[in-house]
Amino acid sequence: MSFRALVTDRDEAGTVASSVEQIEDDRLPEGEVTVDVEWAGLNYKDGLCLTGKGGLVRTYPHVAGIDFAGTVQESSDGRYAAGDAVVLTGWRVGETHWGGYAERARVKADWLVPLPQGLTTRDAMVVGTAGLTAMLAVQRLEGAGVTPDKGDVLVTGASGGVGSIAVSLLGRLGYRVVALSGRPEHGEALRRLGASEILSRDDFLAQPDKPLESARWAAAIDNVGGAVLGKLLKQMQYGGVVAAIGNAGGIGLETNVLPFILRAVTLVGIDSVMQPYEARIAAWQRIAEIFDLDAYGALVEEIGLGELPAAAERILAGQVRGRVLVRPR
Ligand code: NDP
Repeated sequence: MSFRALVTDRDEAGTVASSVEQIEDDRLPEGEVTVDVEWAGLNYKDGLCLTGKGGLVRTYPHVAGIDFAGTVQESSDGRYAAGDAVVLTGWRVGETHWGGYAERARVKADWLVPLPQGLTTRDAMVVGTAGLTAMLAVQRLEGAGVTPDKGDVLVTGASGGVGSIAVSLLGRLGYRVVALSGRPEHGEALRRLGASEILSRDDFLAQPDKPLESARWAAAIDNVGGAVLGKLLKQMQYGGVVAAIGNAGGIGLETNVLPFILRAVTLVGIDSVMQPYEARIAAWQRIAEIFDLDAYGALVEEIGLGELPAAAERILAGQVRGRVLVRPR
């Protein structure tokens, strides 16, 4: 048996490139469960893996794709049987283990989650790693006592996958959401998802810098890092909570202790990759209950395996809006 895959390889000069190839099943990595992939997602990290940036992929040839959903073809683990619908995010699949940019994937049973009730495999990839991570951040804010009456919640990188789903989830839960975007011209789509206000990233960063600035945010979900995270920390209200998710704007963080010691601000880190099974199940269940997939439809784009290399460049350049879904078949 063989299947189509987008194979990413590196030549002797270190150039990384990908092409669609037909490969034999016996080249699949080890794992208890073989999945016929129906949908995969495109995430910022996939952009890094497909272009060889960030040192995430160590062994070539490689099949990238950090999230996918599909149907179990074969399983030697009692928890899964042929025909079961499953979803996978995280565990460094697509980085250190072959991922979802193929018609078939073989993975450890521990890494899978049964498809949540009420979601199709396509729905699961509209959500994907981005939506799961957004939900983990929302739950973290809730756990820290951030309720809608506390004030505005800022979401940065709002047009991206994580950002746009965070806007939608917070809006559904009754929070007043302010969306920070480098592309405020696309703000209308974010308003339709649940943002009450759109803030231009350039205007935000252009405000005079002070050790503490006017207190504005009850909470923030930050997908960007760098200067944006440094700035928003200084604008947190007393007792405000910031969930740091991403580094699309840089891994640096320049700040000072005043937001923490004078305003009791909390900075929490969100990681979706190593989340335990029970936490994943709970987050997926909540997503299935509250995420408005119909309203999100306008922010979903579908591509084939052959279009991935160009899409990888676009996501790294901050040009993707919402979620890009990959159909390997
Ligand atoms: P996307 O590319 O879809 O979204 C990132 C968004 O950040 C862009 O759409 C853009 O939004 C903004 N952005 C892009 N470049 C810059 C820049 N130079 N400076 C400031 N803002 C910028 O990526 P994802 O949604 O997939 O991921 C977002 C981040 O979260 C990434 O860093 C990713 O690695 C991380 N992540 C972390 C996870 C975790 O478990 N901690 C899980 C998933 C993702 P706009 O145009 O609206 O400003």
